Amino acid sequence: MFYPTVLTEKTSIRHVVKDSQHCVCGTTYKHYATFDKRDFKRIQFRQRTEITCPSCKSIIE
Ligand SMILES: [Zn+2]
Repeated sequence: MFYPTVLTEKTSIRHVVKDSQHCVCGTTYKHYATFDKRDFKRIQFRQRTEITCPSCKSIIE
């Protein structure tokens, strides 16, 4: 199974996307409200094993 994930720029941790601004663990990966094409490019579908955020990982299990 593949999950929509996003890599945070500062920490390089891969989170699972929950909505247009937040990750499943509650981290805000985006600090502005508009959602454009660039943001879609940031979201990548990856397998669970590639998710490096332990909180996101435990929530989706
Ligand atoms: Zn996370």
